[in-house]
Amino acid sequence: MPIAIAIDGPAGAGKSTIAKLAAKQLNFIYVDTGALYRTVGLAATKNNVEPKTSEEIDELLRKIKVELTFNDKNEQIVLLDGEDVSSQIRTPEASMMASAISAVPAVRAYLLDLQRNIAKTNNVIMDGRDIGTVVLPNAQIKIFLSADPEERAKRRYDELIEKGMKVKYEDILADVIERDYNDSHREIAPLKPAEDSIMVNTTGNTLKQSVELLIEIMKENM
Ligand code: C5P
Repeated sequence: MPIAIAIDGPAGAGKSTIAKLAAKQLNFIYVDTGALYRTVGLAATKNNVEPKTSEEIDELLRKIKVELTFNDKNEQIVLLDGEDVSSQIRTPEASMMASAISAVPAVRAYLLDLQRNIAKTNNVIMDGRDIGTVVLPNAQIKIFLSADPEERAKRRYDELIEKGMKVKYEDILADVIERDYNDSHREIAPLKPAEDSIMVNTTGNTLKQSVELLIEIMKENM
């Protein structure tokens, strides 16, 4: 049976960067599930669908096709109706839309099999909000990764600035706090550690330290 490692935690805790590097070292496939919610969010924006109107969401989900593929470097690529949207989904607007749309039960149900199917045939490190609790409750290792909101906002800010985007730290911090609230207070699959999660707080760590710590935890528990 393939090995599954679930990494959950709030936005900007470094899940994707850390999980990606750890997956490379362990030769696992890294799956970023946030990208799927972002893609459905992008589809809603493109089709002028408000996340709150459930009939329209149902119709949208019937109409669109979201696919997850991997290139020859094992990097994840998300396709929306056949188009690679991997970079389009990385804006602050797409983040907020993803957070809003992810509270819709039909959207979560729509993305569930897509996520589970990858783990059926591959060793995966999958990151998200509900991987250890809902998507892969039988994952061999579950890690709940977090860091203080200010530090998470600073990391996001640096990332976006590096990509040449014009953003303000205060806005990013407000977004982080709002998304934390949305993600942990929604009725369905709220962000919370699984009972058998290993809790890791990366505040004050360098990226290298966090990656080493996670790999150590994974190797110890595998
Ligand atoms: O991880 P990322 O920040 O890209 O996720 C974008 C949004 O998608 C999150 O704020 C969250 O609302 C949602 N999400 C989710 N469940 C997941 C992954 C992401 O609800 N497993």
